[in-house]
Amino acid sequence: MATNIVSWSIDEEIYQKIKTFYIENQKVPSNDYVLFMAKTSDCTITIYKSYKAVFQGKDALNEAMIFGYTNDNNWLFTDSHAGSDEVGTGDYFGPIVVCASYVDQKSISEIEALGIKDSKKLSDGFISDIVPKIIKKYPHSILVLDNEKYNVLIRQGWNMNSLKAALHNKALSNLNKKKGGINYFVIDQFCAPNNYYQYLKDSDEVIRNVKFETKGESKSAAVALSSIIARYTFLKKMEELKKKSGYDLPLGAGNLVDEMIQKILKERGMEFLKKIAKVNFKNTAKNTQERLEVD
Ligand code: MN
Repeated sequence: MATNIVSWSIDEEIYQKIKTFYIENQKVPSNDYVLFMAKTSDCTITIYKSYKAVFQGKDALNEAMIFGYTNDNNWLFTDSHAGSDEVGTGDYFGPIVVCASYVDQKSISEIEALGIKDSKKLSDGFISDIVPKIIKKYPHSILVLDNEKYNVLIRQGWNMNSLKAALHNKALSNLNKKKGGINYFVIDQFCAPNNYYQYLKDSDEVIRNVKFETKGESKSAAVALSSIIARYTFLKKMEELKKKSGYDLPLGAGNLVDEMIQKILKERGMEFLKKIAKVNFKNTAKNTQERLEVD
């Protein structure tokens, strides 16, 4: 059974609440730093003199939440599993990157302790610092789809969701070959499960034991880890692309991107743009006089 540890800072009011709540379960404090201790069948409660509350045990998270504990990472999966996530799907320039990674039960608390969570909630600086330090410890598989290939596939009738499905499935099956014995897989949900499998109907190998979760990055440590590895890879690829193209390509799909499209079209033309941008995004049509042929 997974053991959860939850710790956070409390004030006098919360301390009194906790004390009253667990008065029947009170234990003698284990050392001088401890103000109050209690033990239920599923949870050990320790309140330190520094007003730090530590809840430990199977039910730690639920119990702590009674007293106002909140955490972005509300891990729903606390045993060994794999998970995948993607980045770059909202960026006009730069590739789509999908990562799948595996975490065992022990690593989940380590991932928590390192502050790893949804890449969207972390700075690029933190991600660039931490990923190289930990990436070798966790079995993973990374797929990069550059925009030249992306544009060809879109012309062939793929859409963003069918591409994501193919990439997630491929990353998970690569990881499965590498690691083996994986109990189950978690995908940060981007479409209904039946559509997901419909997209994969012609694939050679389909990973079936998948749990689809919205906000998967905050429920699965493997999805969170995959999200930061994918972001790290995306940022590296963007740097390479900037150097290769000679343009300081902006992220996202906003005004700066529109300005860059104008500049690139004027200086290098559409064929060049097709190599580095997702030209089916609205930005292209918006910035070309003639309507773009995308089919
Ligand atoms: Mn995601």
